[in-house]
Amino acid sequence: MFSSIKLGKPFGIDLYVHGTFWLLPLFVFLSGVVSGDVAGAAFDVAVLLAVFGCVALHEVGHALAAKWYGIETRDITLYPLGGMARLERMPRRPLHEIVVALAGPAVNVMIVIGLLAGIVLGNITFTQGWASAGLAPEEMFISRLFWANVLLAAFNLIPAFPMDGGRVLRALLSIGMPRLEATQAAVTVGSVLAIGGFLFGFHEKQIMLMLVAGVVFMLGRAELAAVRAEEVRKRWHERTADFFDGPADPDDSHPTAPFTGWRWDPVRRVWSEWRAGALVREIPDA
Ligand SMILES: [Zn+2]
Repeated sequence: MFSSIKLGKPFGIDLYVHGTFWLLPLFVFLSGVVSGDVAGAAFDVAVLLAVFGCVALHEVGHALAAKWYGIETRDITLYPLGGMARLERMPRRPLHEIVVALAGPAVNVMIVIGLLAGIVLGNITFTQGWASAGLAPEEMFISRLFWANVLLAAFNLIPAFPMDGGRVLRALLSIGMPRLEATQAAVTVGSVLAIGGFLFGFHEKQIMLMLVAGVVFMLGRAELAAVRAEEVRKRWHERTADFFDGPADPDDSHPTAPFTGWRWDPVRRVWSEWRAGALVREIPDA
């Protein structure tokens, strides 16, 4: 019931919509219908789908920036709470990580500038907020799309994982300290913001804000756990490099002498014999 469906392949990247996504437009439509305004409900769904089109473009922004550094994107999936681009790996150089993280919000900023140019050139009436009573439907549509993109850019720049701002903060910190410590510090900042957001949401009775703060808090912990696991794997890999060698890591560019001996590929489960850097034979593990 909740499997993803493929929408297309923009810029060569598979774009999916997760099965749970449709609960959101359904919820928006039904709440409109219950309040007796079917046309308004259909309009809100149209705005919502346009906003998620912008979310998809935001993810494409991350993917194209990653591709610039030779990192492929497995797929982009839209969920009710936002989009996710699954990169093959995260760039480990701080500057690259900053560029890839900022490329998403940059797309929303470009959409904002584009809409603003359209509003000015087309002489479109435009409100200062979300509530846009008295406007023609197309003016209301453009106004809401404008503010949604302002919010998308601002929200994603909050320095808390999994938001792009959290990645930027971690990358900036990792210029001056090891990646694990930088992640720890960035996750601490994110956790404090998430707890603050949760308490504010509780005080203001904003259930959505409390929910988002809870998700941000948990995903921050998950990011820290992932980086810790990666560090453990890397240390084990370094200590056992004479015996075991997985697929080459493009970021580990330290030169090594031509290798002579046996290597174990844990992914393919194959032993290989090397002489002076040349592969002699391969023996699959029984
Ligand atoms: Zn993003």
